[in-house]
Amino acid sequence: MKFLQDIKVKGKAVFLRVDFNVPLDENLKIRDETRIQASLPTIKYLLENGARLVVTSHLGRPKGQFNPKMSLKPVAERLRELLTETTVIMAPDVIGPEVDQLKANLKEGELLLLENVRFYKEETDNDPGFSEKLAEGCQVFVNDAFGSCHRAHASVVGVAAYIPEKAAGFLLQKEVEHLSRITHNPEKPYVAILGGAKIEDKIPVLESLVNKADVMLIGGAMAYTFIKAQGRGVGKSLVEEDKLEIAASIMKKAEEKGVKFILPLDHVLTSTIDSQEIALVADSYPLPETLMAVDIGPKTIAEYEKYIKSARTIFWNGPLGVFEVKAFSKGTVEIARVVADSAAFSVVGGGDSIAAIHQAGVADRISHISTGGGASLEYIAYGTLPGIEALK
Ligand code: AMP
Repeated sequence: MKFLQDIKVKGKAVFLRVDFNVPLDENLKIRDETRIQASLPTIKYLLENGARLVVTSHLGRPKGQFNPKMSLKPVAERLRELLTETTVIMAPDVIGPEVDQLKANLKEGELLLLENVRFYKEETDNDPGFSEKLAEGCQVFVNDAFGSCHRAHASVVGVAAYIPEKAAGFLLQKEVEHLSRITHNPEKPYVAILGGAKIEDKIPVLESLVNKADVMLIGGAMAYTFIKAQGRGVGKSLVEEDKLEIAASIMKKAEEKGVKFILPLDHVLTSTIDSQEIALVADSYPLPETLMAVDIGPKTIAEYEKYIKSARTIFWNGPLGVFEVKAFSKGTVEIARVVADSAAFSVVGGGDSIAAIHQAGVADRISHISTGGGASLEYIAYGTLPGIEALK
């Protein structure tokens, strides 16, 4: 795969895929511009090197229809403020004769922002005809949208077939460098911490980590499907009944491979999440019928800390409890601090885990915070992504 330093862009029309999927408020003002900032180095580099820059992104889920509430116009306005020396043109559409003309008229160092690429359902269908129209007039394809690389969509994958030269932008390059370090040759001991609501979304990553990690520390609601699969009573805790079998088979594989698969030793219990009150901290089974587990308890925190302290590589995805409620956030916040204090190479991925890292105030002491939740999980599970393969 090529990177920006490997390609010449002067005078060429560059089709750049970014992730400008920013949250907008009811007045269509950008609430958080982290994603715009994340791709600015790539945009600036391409403009400074004389590219005629065509930028594309999705925003929200317009489901293949034009929707003014999901227009990228607010992003174009913000780009004009951030790139004061650049002409930023907002295209009225994604494809078509008018857009083609705007592309053809672009001068070196100018930026044309296309409309929300998901206004066309052909985008998510990865339609070849649509991909060809997106690529119209462009000689170089640069992908900097790591958070979309697990999707085989037209602007991520399809377009690559119609543009001869391809490269990864700086953001994608950084993600691949960091994630491949924990995927392809992790320094041992490798400790994976997995939490969150459901096993369902994380089966491939769990199955992959059973083959790579030395220790798997489990928390969140997910733990209770595993605990129930061991035949223990978990009270009202969330359980995915249809995943008990796969949970048992993952634990069996871990045992065969000699991977330490560790479940919580004690549990913070409540009668309802809404009560925001701890009813009991229990360290034996069965958990009371009327209570549900919402956080890991102090014994679990101490036990997990021991493993995290001895790690050389750490991957963390998913909160270890209902961290949005202060009374149930202690486990997640404490573990965030322990991960930050460790000397290991640490990677955190996923929106909720990132929020927890910020809540604990330790973001600057994590080696790499991945910008794509779903994409980072898939990368770790499969060692690559459709959007990365398309650049090769
Ligand atoms: P995920 O998107 O799978 O990472 O799940 C994140 C969500 O899991 C957060 O909203 C947490 O509140 C929720 N969660 C974590 N632990 C529990 C638990 N023990 N019971 C219910 N929900 C939980």
